[in-house]
Amino acid sequence: MSHRLVLLGMPGAGKGTQAARLSEELNIPAISTGDIFRANVKGQTELGREAQKYMDAGNLVPDSVTNAMVRDRLGQPDAAAGFLLDGYPRNPAQVTELDDILQDLGVALTGVIEITADTEAVVPRLLKRAEIEGRADDDETAIRRRLEVYEEQTAPLTDIYSQRGVLVSVDGIGEIDDVTQRLLTALKNLS
Ligand code: ADP
Repeated sequence: MSHRLVLLGMPGAGKGTQAARLSEELNIPAISTGDIFRANVKGQTELGREAQKYMDAGNLVPDSVTNAMVRDRLGQPDAAAGFLLDGYPRNPAQVTELDDILQDLGVALTGVIEITADTEAVVPRLLKRAEIEGRADDDETAIRRRLEVYEEQTAPLTDIYSQRGVLVSVDGIGEIDDVTQRLLTALKNLS
């Protein structure tokens, strides 16, 4: 069966790590809006220039920019047989836009997986990642802001998808392999 999935979870919950593993396991592209933005910043594209100041401050890039980018990406041939979205949607307006994009493509989400974690666990992870990867938005002020934005704008999405009956939650605390196994089990229960 084809999987069309959304991965939810606070910054540092492990979405990127797990998305890469699920992508390989399920043979679908992992589409990370954060990665696409970072590639554009690095490549100094117009999109990158537009996004950078929001990202560096830990704020969301405006919906007009993000939505157009996701619409374009989901329309590409490799997403036709399924996809895993990491980092989108991130606010209720993006949920509506994603509904619209998928309707236009004639498909629907097969599931939304929330990777749960708590602030105490993720802040040290993010600070450690900052040392290793040197991401501009992994300084303490931006991390705090990203967590605030998550609470205010993204956390309500679990209610929206839960009401639709497509949400499963998986504990993101523990060994990376264990979390992957939990995710694969949760996916089997979804289908
Ligand atoms: P994290 O989840 O660790 O904060 P991401 O790589 O998912 O990291 O996102 C990094 C930044 O990219 C966000 O803080 C935001 O500025 C921007 N971004 C990513 N996805 C979106 C989105 N769906 N809408 C708006 N901005 C986004």
